[in-house]
Amino acid sequence: MSTTTDKSSSPPCMEATDSDCTVPVIHIDPTLCTGCRRCAGVCPVDAIEGLPGEPQTVNADRCVFCGQCVQICSVYASDWADASPQEAAIRRQARMRERDMPADIGEPLFAAYYSYSLNKVTDMMTKPGQLRIVQCAPSIRVSLAEEFGMPFGTLTPGKMAAALRRLGFDRVYDTNFGADVTIMEEGTELIRRVTEGGPLPMFTSCCPAWVRFAEIEYPDLLDHLSSCKSPMQILGALVKTYGAQLDEVKPANIYSVAIMPCTCKQFECDRPEMESDGYRDVDEVLTTRELAYWIKQRGIDFMNLPDEEFDSPLGKYSGAGTIFGVTGGVMEAAIRTGYELLTNEKLPKLQLDFVRGEEGIRVAEVQVGELQLKVAVVAGLQHAYQLLDRVQAGECDYHFIEVMGCPAGCISGGGQPKLMLEKQKIEAYRARKSSIYGHDAASQVRKSHENPFIIKLYDEFLGEPLGHVSHHLLHTTFHKRGPGRQSRNSDVSTNGNNDYSLH
Ligand code: SF4
Ligand code: SF4
Repeated sequence: MSTTTDKSSSPPCMEATDSDCTVPVIHIDPTLCTGCRRCAGVCPVDAIEGLPGEPQTVNADRCVFCGQCVQICSVYASDWADASPQEAAIRRQARMRERDMPADIGEPLFAAYYSYSLNKVTDMMTKPGQLRIVQCAPSIRVSLAEEFGMPFGTLTPGKMAAALRRLGFDRVYDTNFGADVTIMEEGTELIRRVTEGGPLPMFTSCCPAWVRFAEIEYPDLLDHLSSCKSPMQILGALVKTYGAQLDEVKPANIYSVAIMPCTCKQFECDRPEMESDGYRDVDEVLTTRELAYWIKQRGIDFMNLPDEEFDSPLGKYSGAGTIFGVTGGVMEAAIRTGYELLTNEKLPKLQLDFVRGEEGIRVAEVQVGELQLKVAVVAGLQHAYQLLDRVQAGECDYHFIEVMGCPAGCISGGGQPKLMLEKQKIEAYRARKSSIYGHDAASQVRKSHENPFIIKLYDEFLGEPLGHVSHHLLHTTFHKRGPGRQSRNSDVSTNGNNDYSLH
């Protein structure tokens, strides 16, 4: 395989149906907001509206629910110094109820916040007669321990699995397995598009903020998105079909929860098309922070838990599934499999450094057999505009483009532990990323198509990638959510300034 790199900074589309734009996920409390507009500086889509010095609002039609504004907001409720301690406690509790936050969370109440799901999940966990299943995104295992005072990037998959069992889950599965399936499906789709006439470039579809961005800003390009559901939704669909068969339980009796680094995942799991045979793929999503609250609330001594295994078969993953948590990871995982499927030769080197950088846009050419595959990786939606404009103008000859909405990929998601200092963020992102790559390097299986549980899944249940069953369960459609950026008489710009660089 040969590569050249140029690091520069520079399914049919459905008709408009914005009626499925559900409850906004991101909120700003007008009684707390000072109008500092730090949040507007990181918003990739100019969704924060208001005059400086006045309370801001979130334009829900534009917002892609990435949660970067929630991460950066540093203004929180004071101790209500004008009130007695009793009155201050009453006011705090009232505000927490408004936000549907568990009453015993001790953290400050910031002006910008996301909707909480923890109360809904803890209520459902007490319902008898159901099989409670949880899945965890790749990036949770490198960030959760930070909430328990451990250094940035501490890797704790075993303790996370143990904690989830103690919280009452009957099966602890892994979104990484869903990521391995994504590679099988998306890789096959790419090969088919390359050999059968496009449309190209094909875009990844695993980041829901990116998908929503495309639906709002570039609806005419939706047929360029891979039709694959995200790894979370893929695993959710498998849990209530293949998993239900293995457990001999009815899908209706499965309660499926996902732990995600991402605030947009709540929106994604609510999308009407995210169901299979009448059952929601994923019933509820919790963020990393919500899981940490829950573990603390239950008095679980997280760092002293024994390491436990994820359950089989939907919890057994390859290193390729793990690296979905960082920018460039989907591309690297796809090339590891695509190269071998197309050439029938072993990939000479598994660590693909040309997609591992930190620039907002990274491009490379990869020789895959006869094909000179041109790929691009976009980290952070503010960088997507320039590439999408070129695709729209027919000037972009790439085959495959990965887009992740957050600046360093899922490790920097809006639901991750909140870090307000830029220096802390850079340290944390670097450590989480290194930890993810270390986890991959230590994996016995590092390619999705070599994961024996993936091979078994296709043998026993799915048949073949892009086959009838996969098409039905694991692929989806996207929806136009407005006339698009070109039609808006506004200067939607790249004014977000959340460039992620370690240099
Ligand atoms: S939401 Fe937070 S960051 Fe945004 S303007 Fe208000 S106080 Fe500032
Ligand atoms: S930063 Fe993200 S979540 Fe916040 S308003 Fe902008 S698009 Fe919405």
